[in-house]
Amino acid sequence: MANIILLGPPGAGKGTQAKRLEETRGMVQLSTGDMLKEAIAQGTDLGRRVEGIMARGELVTDEIVIGLIEHKMTEGARGGFIFDGFPRTLKQADALAELMARTGSRLDRVIEMQVDDAALVDRITGRFTCGNCGAVYHDRTHPTRVPGICDACGSTDLRRRADDNAETLKTRLMEYYKKTSPLIGYYYAKGLLTSVDGLADVDTVSSAIASVLD
Ligand code: ADP
Ligand code: ADP
Repeated sequence: MANIILLGPPGAGKGTQAKRLEETRGMVQLSTGDMLKEAIAQGTDLGRRVEGIMARGELVTDEIVIGLIEHKMTEGARGGFIFDGFPRTLKQADALAELMARTGSRLDRVIEMQVDDAALVDRITGRFTCGNCGAVYHDRTHPTRVPGICDACGSTDLRRRADDNAETLKTRLMEYYKKTSPLIGYYYAKGLLTSVDGLADVDTVSSAIASVLD
């Protein structure tokens, strides 16, 4: 069992790899992005508060996402947690360390997925997901086998995110470089960082992550 963070800019492939780790290793994906999107879809108070911020590509407050993670971590995970899109600031990283200490668990590895900016525009503008099961697809690199139908669950509810456009991506990337990329140095200094080439194809990236975990 291992608790890991997948760290990388929007479109690096974190969600894709997290889903695979859930299937192959019984790990549990904790994606703050997915939790926030669910809150918006359900029209909760929280959803209404974060909707505009997310549409602009800015980060929501640390307090909100720390609260979400804290709540989910109490449920536990036999195969370990995959933190996907969290932490995104140093304050969130400190909060995670505190939560780990409090629950008697530890962070085993932080896997940085390295992808250059030019590739991210293509990844983000081609992305679509299944609204039912969360499977992640891409127009060119990973389309569904039958157009309009999810391979994993058969749903026809395939969606594109409102913030997945070239314009909003600029803000999201700026947020990443200003607030999230310092975490690379932070975890390197803690001896927890491993970097993998996120530009390789999906299977190759999965193998690289597997060899880090084994
Ligand atoms: P991506 O998969 O493209 O990296 P996410 O789905 O993780 O994007 O996040 C979507 C949006 O949700 C972010 O642009 C941000 O507004 C918000 N968000 C998600 N996680 C966090 C977090 N840990 N801290 C602050 N904002 C977050
Ligand atoms: P993140 O969660 O980091 O924002 P995703 O896993 O949602 O990233 O991937 C972004 C887009 O890129 C999706 O359309 C996905 O299908 C595609 N993708 C993910 N990994 C790869 C890869 N290794 N090679 C090519 N395309 C990929």
